[in-house]
Amino acid sequence: MVKERVKIGVIGVGHLGQHHAKHYKNLSSAELIGIFDEDKTAGELISEKYKVKLFNSIDSLIDEVEAVSVVTPTKSHYKISKLCIQNNIHVFIEKPITATLKQADSLLKLSEKSKTIIQVGHIERLNPALIALKYYNVNPKLIEIQRLAPYTARGTDVPVVLDKMIHDIDIILSLVNSKVETIDASGLSILTDSLDIAHARISFQSGTVASIMSSRIAKDDVRKIKLFQKDLYATIDLLMESTEIYKVTNDRNHQEKGEGLSIPFQYKSKNRYIIYDKPNLPKYDSLKEELNNFILSIRGIEKPIVSGQDAKDALEVATIIERKIIRDIK
Ligand code: NAD
Repeated sequence: MVKERVKIGVIGVGHLGQHHAKHYKNLSSAELIGIFDEDKTAGELISEKYKVKLFNSIDSLIDEVEAVSVVTPTKSHYKISKLCIQNNIHVFIEKPITATLKQADSLLKLSEKSKTIIQVGHIERLNPALIALKYYNVNPKLIEIQRLAPYTARGTDVPVVLDKMIHDIDIILSLVNSKVETIDASGLSILTDSLDIAHARISFQSGTVASIMSSRIAKDDVRKIKLFQKDLYATIDLLMESTEIYKVTNDRNHQEKGEGLSIPFQYKSKNRYIIYDKPNLPKYDSLKEELNNFILSIRGIEKPIVSGQDAKDALEVATIIERKIIRDIK
């Protein structure tokens, strides 16, 4: 329990920022001091809805808080976050951390100097379907991720690699404990002036290979992961929040964490068994948990689930992917 509530503000209260405001309003560990949005109408709407003060500038808001969420389009993350950090304000920045690697580097240096926290909203890390993997000794050799989304204008200030694929890059880096060796990528623009579809193949020094397909021009939302390693296959649906594990063992009675259903099969004259498991996953609001983790990290009770450094690492891979694609289509 946080003794003194963290005074907090939200900058940018559009599609996602309004939910930051809602959660801070309800979290017992936080005191929502106010919001700011450059679009006055959007600000007034959320100010009215959550009965919270609407500030008329970022400067006036940060005078009264110790932390903020930056939930504006990516291209403005750097300028706003820099101002906050220089004023010793902890920042929760929605993903991706910044539009360029140079900007991310600069923010990390500033935060180190001012001892402020940077946390980044790679929210999939809190997805119960992904968290469930920790019970299964996962060390994947092959990873395949597909993320498709119907077109919306939001997020198109940056290419699909920074808008959608970055979630999966962050997931992969969190699952593979090895350095990236090579990256191949291809993609194209279909509707916007930047990349709308991208495919990347990331090879790690350990031999693990990850393949990611991301599109923001799809009919339906799809967010699926397949993981393969010796004696284990996992399929994860991030959207439906479900995890299914197929594990090969010699022990017919082997029990996994979830419901555990064994399917006997013959393998090379030896009796081996596939254990099928579909764990019961907890239901919770990932954004609320993520913001609570930010507040508790400010008070030194927890550590940020996704640090500024993690987000910079994901951005570094994303930047290589984007450059490779752009170089090849020119
Ligand atoms: P949005 O366009 O719906 O909202 C952005 C808001 O910021 C608008 O109200 C706009 O008026 C305001 N704004 C723009 N520039 C500003 C500035 N300089 N100062 C103050 N306010 C400003 O966008 P969104 O979908 O809410 O996305 C915002 C951020 O959240 C983006 O970085 C996006 O990548 C990220 N996002 C993350 C996830 C996730 O899964 N973690 C999902 C959606 C969006």
